[in-house]
Amino acid sequence: MAEVSSNRNVNRQFRLKKRPSGKIQRSDFDFVESPIPQPGPGEVLFRTLYLSMEPIYRLWLTDTDHDLPPVAIGDVVRGVGLARVVASNNEAWKVGDLGSGMFGWQDYAVPPAPGLARVARIPANLPVPLRATMGSCGSTGFCAYFGLLDIGKPKDGETVLVSAAAGAVGSIAGQIAKIKGARVVGIAGGAEKCRMLRDEFGFDDAVDYKRPDWREQLAAATPNGIAVNFENVGGDIMNAVLERMNKGGRVVLCGLISSYNDGARDGGHLVAPGNFVPVFTRRLTMQGFVFTDFAPRFGEATKQLAQWVSEGKIKDRDTVVKGLENAVDALNQQFDGGNIGKLVVEISEP
Ligand code: NAP
Repeated sequence: MAEVSSNRNVNRQFRLKKRPSGKIQRSDFDFVESPIPQPGPGEVLFRTLYLSMEPIYRLWLTDTDHDLPPVAIGDVVRGVGLARVVASNNEAWKVGDLGSGMFGWQDYAVPPAPGLARVARIPANLPVPLRATMGSCGSTGFCAYFGLLDIGKPKDGETVLVSAAAGAVGSIAGQIAKIKGARVVGIAGGAEKCRMLRDEFGFDDAVDYKRPDWREQLAAATPNGIAVNFENVGGDIMNAVLERMNKGGRVVLCGLISSYNDGARDGGHLVAPGNFVPVFTRRLTMQGFVFTDFAPRFGEATKQLAQWVSEGKIKDRDTVVKGLENAVDALNQQFDGGNIGKLVVEISEP
């Protein structure tokens, strides 16, 4: 392996050099070029088109198991991608087929047999643009769909509060809540994101947590309290939202992004302090989940989400960063609020 040059007929890879402290830095990784792998018997060579950026990647770089084992030092950084088959020794996959799976932060991948079984085939006839299969009609949409509908279970007219609402999962969760007849309030950073929540995504109200009066904004936006909290952030925001929950409310614990960079202590164990007093005094139900828990029902979700997108009931925004070499900055964008909707890195021209 050599450090990356301009020669593109190679497999560029980000390999973990050392465990990051705080935000990830380029120096935490080796960016190297390796030979393009060749598929063995029964194997398939994928060329990655898009790398989906997910805040959980930061947790996978700690030395603690967060749903999946830590990325080992020296390994290619784990990541979900959308890829096209460029060579195949497997009858089930033909050159040109598209799949979504754990292809990693690299140009090419030959998933070993068990990994290949987990590559999801992208249907050729979905009535949505290709990139939507990473966002609204892919893992992001599945997370919003199952988290909100199976765990949050909003009823007509109830108030649903979504944090990180202008991001990938939040923007879809809020729009699904609107489709289901809820009154939807989003929390996001900055006036422009709050405007978008109201004017483009159809939220009923928005709270700008970057303003000092955000707690007053939250109270004004939720005069009847909150029935369902779709929680993406944690920390002070979650604690303030819990204080406004109605008796018997549901908390969908989707993520705790505010702790991922700074919450790692004791060599990687994540600490996310929370105010759990309202959980017992208001008889709240709080359920964490990972969208893959619902894998047997991905087909149902894809069909429904694609229909809502094609009917214009869900607006699908994304932010595209060009070039695998910019993946480190791209992941940090999610912690700086640099993205609107789904953040993807375009690795090769689709
Ligand atoms: P995203 O929302 O597109 O990007 C993250 C957004 O979070 C940023 O744009 C930023 O928006 C906001 N943010 C970042 N740090 C913050 C902080 N300290 N305080 C308040 N807001 C902050 O990312 P995503 O992929 O949709 O993920 C959102 C959450 O869902 C994450 O917690 C993630 O781990 C979780 N998730 C869970 C699953 C699952 O299966 N359970 C799957 C995917 C994602 P602002 O400009 O508004 O600050």
